[in-house]
Amino acid sequence: MPRMRRKSDLPTKTCAACGLPFTWRKKWERDWDNVRYCSDRCRSGKGGAKKDQA
Ligand SMILES: [Zn+2]
Repeated sequence: MPRMRRKSDLPTKTCAACGLPFTWRKKWERDWDNVRYCSDRCRSGKGGAKKDQA
């Protein structure tokens, strides 16, 4: 019998933009292998420590 996967047992990755760890989300279930950023802001390159004022 397979082990139950608890909520606290979800996979995690480190964001390539801000460097913070983030946890698997339902919306990434089909694309988890390709997920590199914790948020849309990081993915668009506008996130991070510095706030970009355009
Ligand atoms: Zn991030």
